Amino acid sequence: MAVETLRASVVVVGSGMGGGTTAWALAQRGVDVLLVERGEHLPREAANVSPREVFLNRRYKPSETWLDGAGRPFSPGVHYVVGGNTKVYGASLPRFRESDFGTVEHHEGISPAWPFTYADLEPYYLAAERLFRVHGQHGEDPSEPWRSEPFPFPAVPDEPYVAQLADRLHAAGATTSPTCMGIDLRPFGSCVRCATCDGFPCRLDAKSDSDVCAIQPALETGHVRLLTGVRVTRVATDSTPGRVSHLEAEGPYGPVRIVAERYVLAAGAANSAALLLASRSADHPGGLANSSDQVGRNFMMHNNAHIAAIDLDRRNDAVFQKTLQVNDWYHDGGDGKPLGTLQLLGKVQGVMMKSWATRVPLPILDQVAARSVEWLVMTEDLPRADNRVTVTDDGTITVTRRAVGTSTHRMLHRKATRLMRAAGYDVVATQPFDISMNSHMCGTLVAGHDPERSVLDPYCRAHDVENLWVLDSSFFPSSAAMNPALTIAAQALRVVAESGLAS
Ligand SMILES: Cc1cc2nc3c(=O)[nH]c(=O)nc-3n(C[C@H](O)[C@H](O)[C@H](O)COP(=O)(O)OP(=O)(O)OC[C@H]3O[C@@H](n4cnc5c(N)ncnc54)[C@H](O)[C@@H]3O)c2cc1C
Ligand code: SF4
Repeated sequence: MAVETLRASVVVVGSGMGGGTTAWALAQRGVDVLLVERGEHLPREAANVSPREVFLNRRYKPSETWLDGAGRPFSPGVHYVVGGNTKVYGASLPRFRESDFGTVEHHEGISPAWPFTYADLEPYYLAAERLFRVHGQHGEDPSEPWRSEPFPFPAVPDEPYVAQLADRLHAAGATTSPTCMGIDLRPFGSCVRCATCDGFPCRLDAKSDSDVCAIQPALETGHVRLLTGVRVTRVATDSTPGRVSHLEAEGPYGPVRIVAERYVLAAGAANSAALLLASRSADHPGGLANSSDQVGRNFMMHNNAHIAAIDLDRRNDAVFQKTLQVNDWYHDGGDGKPLGTLQLLGKVQGVMMKSWATRVPLPILDQVAARSVEWLVMTEDLPRADNRVTVTDDGTITVTRRAVGTSTHRMLHRKATRLMRAAGYDVVATQPFDISMNSHMCGTLVAGHDPERSVLDPYCRAHDVENLWVLDSSFFPSSAAMNPALTIAAQALRVVAESGLAS
């Protein structure tokens, strides 16, 4: 079969947070970009807002399975569509804290320093907040880092139930602050504060996903071409071992060869690592960019749990609930060591609980959901070399993970439970996360100064391969205990502005 060859100055693989933002930033500089995405556009359809379709039937997840460390198959938390995982994400877009970029001692080990500082990234956080229309309020969160300018848009207001919840939490001794949200509540903005945001696609394009905020404007510049339905299978270095010569890919009509001057992988933390491992050759027997043997290692995904606090006497009538967080213990849980964050989730409906409370009848879950308020309890997952992504010969991804930092997680969970009780809630139910809930995965191709201990340099260029960058969550040296997407976007903007990627 004839192989189709496509050419561009820069090719970006993957259109999620990292890839979409990179394409947008390159387009602003007039660079000719080919954005290659294995998925298609997520369809706009009635099922977009069906909890049953989205959560129980996993409508927008791929049918592929990955294996855990014991060889058991699981359905991963990935979405192969234009916009990647941001198409369904919760759009909570906080910055990491200043200390997250330094070395931090935790109960179960050290969270390592990043090869650049918060100050280095701060201007790009601001630019990313503008690009992704972040709404927030400075000065109320005890953990927040300094910022050079105010948030681009004011915080999303609390609904009455959440405002009263804040009062109850204050009375119980907690500090609350608004979550940093990427939804379009600008004057004349299209967000209608609906009940199906967190975990669902937005039918109004009002959620600040990579497709809406980065890719569509990038395409309008005329500098970016988007190729959908094409899966990159190999990064080849034919003539010079330290330079990518081309990409091999599979499209709907057969094999595709893609030739560029510079290459960016942004396929997500598991797929980017898997692609480099699968690109082994005589020159690179352990996989491409892997002279350090670090490709695929240090897989992290946060230690997370969902809790539902139930007040038997009071109905929760909030529609858009995700407006409040408690960060009192982010830096110090009382013994000088950090814990993490508590963030309100989107309002959960009974049928959504059915995916884990499988034996409880739906009418009971509906009654529970009518009286519950749901939180994300998020703590840092420390890097560990043996926690890693590998690929089998047939291309199946395996994720081997033993969580590090679980005692920290238990401590924050206990504090959260006590806080909810003190605020008057009768019951606190917990849904712990398992390996399939890997939506915050990161760290498989860490950035660092030392080529023997990291895969990428501080500007996310491969130490071993001069024309290859990785601009997704793979580069994170640590996971922090905050939502990752804004940091992925900020680093993509920094790299395009300050490294040789654009020229
Ligand atoms: C339900 C849910 C809720 C979330 N909520 C939040 C939140 O509130 N805040 C937050 O900060 N984060 C949130 N996240 C996480 C956030 O979406 C991710 O951290 C972020 O999207 C990761 O960006 P990325 O560029 O690394 O990868 P992705 O966004 O996953 O993008 C990777 C892209 O690469 C494509 N791809 C993969 N392999 C190939 C290949 N071989 N060839 C071509 N294309 C390929 C994929 O199809 C995909 O489009 C959430 C995620 C989920 C699933
Ligand atoms: S709350 Fe706003 S941004 Fe979220 S899905 Fe609804 S309309 Fe879209």
